[in-house]
Order: sequence, then C-alpha cells, then structure tokens
Amino acid sequence: MIQTDVCVLGAGPGGVAASLQLAKLGISSIVVDKAVFPRDKICGDSISGKVPYVFNRIDKEIFKDFISREDLKYNSWGVEFIYPDRKIQIDYKPGITKAELELEKPVGFLSKRMDFDNYLVDYIKKEPLVDLREGVQITAFERNETGYILYSKDKSTQIQAKLVIVADGAQSKFARQIGKVEIDPKHYAGSVRAYYKNVKGGDYLNRIELHFLKKLEPGYFWIFRLPNGEANVGIGMRTDLLKERKVNLRKEMIRILKEEEPFKERFKNAELIGELQGFGLPLGSKKRVISGDHFMLIGDAASLIDPLTGEGIGNATVSGRFAALHAAEALKANDFSAKFLSKYDKMVYDKLWKELRVSTFLQNAYKYKWLSSTLKRLANNRQFIEILSAIFSDVDLKKKLFSPVFYYKLIFNR
Ligand SMILES: Cc1cc2nc3c(=O)[nH]c(=O)nc-3n(C[C@H](O)[C@H](O)[C@H](O)COP(=O)(O)OP(=O)(O)OC[C@H]3O[C@@H](n4cnc5c(N)ncnc54)[C@H](O)[C@@H]3O)c2cc1C
Repeated sequence: MIQTDVCVLGAGPGGVAASLQLAKLGISSIVVDKAVFPRDKICGDSISGKVPYVFNRIDKEIFKDFISREDLKYNSWGVEFIYPDRKIQIDYKPGITKAELELEKPVGFLSKRMDFDNYLVDYIKKEPLVDLREGVQITAFERNETGYILYSKDKSTQIQAKLVIVADGAQSKFARQIGKVEIDPKHYAGSVRAYYKNVKGGDYLNRIELHFLKKLEPGYFWIFRLPNGEANVGIGMRTDLLKERKVNLRKEMIRILKEEEPFKERFKNAELIGELQGFGLPLGSKKRVISGDHFMLIGDAASLIDPLTGEGIGNATVSGRFAALHAAEALKANDFSAKFLSKYDKMVYDKLWKELRVSTFLQNAYKYKWLSSTLKRLANNRQFIEILSAIFSDVDLKKKLFSPVFYYKLIFNR
C-alpha cells in the first residue's frame, strides 16, 4: 500500500495543473493515470488564452518552451461564429499583417491533445515532488478513517490518500459514485470529431471556425486548422436535444460534409485520417457540489465545460490550481471534512460562475427571436466586436466584462 497526503487521479490538463501547483507549494503528490503518455483525448484541440494564463500563475517556465514549438501547435488569432445568415468575426489583433504577427505574443493555440498533454506530462515527469504512475487504471475506492484507498483494476496498486483530487475526466467513476454527480441531458453534450487533411479555406490568422447550423442549434459544427496541413473537424449538440430531434451525430457530420455548402466544396479533396470518434462534454451550465469528505472534483469530473463554446481545458486548469491551493490549507489545518473543503467550491464558482452564466444565456439565445435579432444587430457593431475580441484575448478584462449587467446594458442599449 502506497501512502500519500494527496493523490491526483488523472493526468489531463486539470491533473497536471493541480500537481504542479502542489509542487510549487512544496507538497508532494502521486498522480495516477490509466494511460501511458503520449495518449490521445477526443477534443477540438483548441487551447484558449486561459490555459497559458493559469500555467503562468503556477510557474512561468511551464509554457515557455511550448510558445516556440511550431511542430506542436499553430497560433490562432481569432474566432468566427458563423450563423446561416450572419458571421461574427472576432480578431484578437484586428487588421494585423502576417509580418506584424511574427512580433506578437500568441493568444490562443491549436495543438493535438496527443502532443499538448504529452508536453505537460513531460513537465511533471521532471518535477521531483510529483510521482507519476502511468498505465494504472483506478476502478475502486474505499473510504476509511484516513481518507480513501484507490485500487487499480488488478489490485496491484493500492494508494491510501488523505485527500483525492479527482481529475479523471468526463467519465469519472469517482464523481458519479462518490461525488453523486449525475449526467443531466440538459447540461451535457454529445460530440463526434475526426482529423482531416487537405481541407480548403483559412488564412494566416488561423481563426477557429464555429458553424451554428440550424439543425444543431445551440450546438455547432467546427473546423480547427492544425499543424501539418491537418484539421480537427467535429460536431456537438446538447444531449436532451439530440434525443428530442433524433439526431445521429456521426451520420449528420458525414451528411454536412457531403451535402451542405460551403463544406461540400471545402471537403471535396479532403482525406479522413483515422475514424470519427465520439465523446461526452459535461457542461458547466448548472452549479454542482464539487467536493466532499476527503475529495475535490476538478475539470470535466466537476462538469465545468463552457456551454457556449465547449471549451473545457482552461476551466480544468483553473479548478486544478484552486484545488491545489485549497489542499495546502486543508493539510495545514489537518481538516479534510466536506465542510472545510466546500470553500474550494466557492473559489471555483466565484471565479467561473459569471462567465458560465453568460455562456448559458447565449447558448439559449436560439430559443428567443428577440435575442437572436439583437445578436444579429450586434454582429455589425464595431464596439461590440472590439469588446468580444478583448474578452477572448485578455483574461483580466474577461473577468470584468463577464457581468450580466454589462450584457444587459449592451443588449438593451441602456
Ligand atoms: C469532442 C470534444 C471537443 C472538445 N473541444 C475542446 C476544445 O477545442 N477546447 C477546449 O478547451 N476543450 C474542449 N473540449 C473539452 C476538453 O476536452 C475537456 O474539458 C478537458 O480535456 C478536461 O480536462 P481534464 O483534465 O478535466 O480531463 P481529461 O483531459 O479528460 O483527462 C482525464 C485523465 O484521466 C485519466 N483517467 C480517466 N479515468 C481514469 C481511471 N479510472 N484511472 C486512472 N486514470 C484515469 C485519463 O486517461 C485522462 O488522462 C472538448 C471535448 C470534446 C469531447
């Protein structure tokens, strides 16, 4: 039996952020992952500015090399929200030329999770206070006086921890069984993604493309360009609506590529690499209890994905860092009770709830004609576009601007 104060279950971006923040505070941890890295994770591979922002708060060294690794990532300089009758184009550096971009610090990235997660895991492998155990799938948990014992499938690994930081993603057994986090179809999305080569379109700004097609509303179809001429292409939709509208996402994606313009033309010479793969997205559109006696849930295990954009890597790192900061307090106080750990829930929601609420509101815009037409009007409003651009590129500004009052004033012109 291995004894540890803190066990981090899962070495995705959330688990890595938690273990590195713990190490920075001088606290050792065991990180356990069922995979042996490099491993794939079904994702859109878009990494927003929030991710380097959080890692830089832990340690500026973590992201330093990544910025110059052109083999691992593309820089992205904008987002396009494309609706059947309008397009909202948000450039982080409006009007900038290709030459000028060379001198700018990138805001967002596109990097295959196979590469990105491996980059992060390589980093924790060098950290003496992190003991990473790869290829160990945890399948059972036992509560005892000290905390939890985590058992691997064949019971060859048994970890006794005072505190478990649960970072094992959307299908977390711990979150379901012990955290009592249930899948709520209104707050969960299904998705399918595939890699393609030779997709037409795009330019040096490498904007990420979100296509809001009528049948998928409020979900979307995406095209994200990657290094080596590849593109991450996918489709996602809320689970309750998938059932209600009887949509088969795999069939729908193939249909869009074959039948709908402009995709039909853009994918004429495209080549599928591998196969279409599906995975779930636990959305942060409702508040949940994300801690309990001797544990804190982070990232997808805590259902923190942005319901409008599907972005979850940033919130996994935010929650991972907070869990580590609060773990340090719990160790100091030698208090791992649900009551003490509930302060972690407050830290997470104080930071994220405003933006999750705004995203939920905008996600539901499709239901309201007045809101849709207001958004249409705003799509041509220069000030609105500049503000949105700042929200995507400046995390501090995003914090200030994600106040519902701000949006109320903007929409109603008050
Ligand atoms: C199709 C799709 C597209 C998406 N696109 C984007 C996007 O473009 N940008 C974005 O920001 N977010 C996107 N997301 C969301 C994003 O993938 C997640 O929010 C993010 O990966 C969450 O990170 P995490 O660390 O919480 O969990 P994960 O990244 O899922 O990591 C969990 C880790 O736990 C390990 N694990 C699981 N079970 C066990 C076990 N029993 N024992 C041991 N280890 C275990 C896994 O091997 C894995 O390494 C997308 C999601 C999907 C499904």
